[in-house]
Amino acid sequence: MALLSTHGLTAHYGQFQALFGVDIELGEGECVAIIGSNGAGKTTLMRSISGVLRNAPASVRLRGEEIGALPADEVMKRGISMVPEGRRLFPSLTVEENLLIGGQVRKGSGYWTLERIYALFPILAERRRNPGTALSGGQQQMVAIGRALMANPDVLLCDEISLGLAPVVIKDIYKAVPLIRESGASMIIVEQDIGQALKVADRVYCMIEGRVTLTGRPEELTREAIHVAYFGVQ
Ligand code: ATP
Repeated sequence: MALLSTHGLTAHYGQFQALFGVDIELGEGECVAIIGSNGAGKTTLMRSISGVLRNAPASVRLRGEEIGALPADEVMKRGISMVPEGRRLFPSLTVEENLLIGGQVRKGSGYWTLERIYALFPILAERRRNPGTALSGGQQQMVAIGRALMANPDVLLCDEISLGLAPVVIKDIYKAVPLIRESGASMIIVEQDIGQALKVADRVYCMIEGRVTLTGRPEELTREAIHVAYFGVQ
């Protein structure tokens, strides 16, 4: 049984339909990447899984349990945390306070503690007393990832964690991915950079206009197939 799965998932913003029957699976210990150009529906898929958007009951399952109709706080308590697009830190709080808020979502012990987040991203230890807004974009992204990890999730959803960052910073952020996986978390990463996605993921799903157009392991996918699935043209 998959750890997490979606089943004919649809999503609407008013009259506008953004997802059309999306089926994806995440296995225990897996890292899956969702790729696709602007507007493909990647963020909507993450928001649907995380409970920010409500779904039909059977359309999202965690270890076989239906979670599609649950609100976001209930989904988090069951072990799914999201690093949202745009980081969304609490601006008036310090780095450490932002991290601690993540830990309040899901009570109980787990691998991730403040010390382990600071070991993962040492710069955050130096900046622990700084307000979230006084950080660079890359540092803010690290706080957003750390905050999500503090809930000790079984599934970590990362929405465009490299967006708008310099290549050297992106490299620093992606260095954390294997360490996060070693902690036992499974991951879904939304990524517009195809090369980055193929490097980091066990499997990739490509989307166009609310539908999955291609899925497979990076080594199985040809450049041509990805091009067609990503842009919808030959
Ligand atoms: P991006 O890389 O730009 O974030 P994406 O693949 O994540 O793209 P979504 O943000 O999920 O795509 O958007 C999917 C579709 O839903 C787009 O056509 C978008 O315009 C539309 N959409 C997204 N959010 C809303 C909203 N709040 N209200 C109305 N339409 C929306």
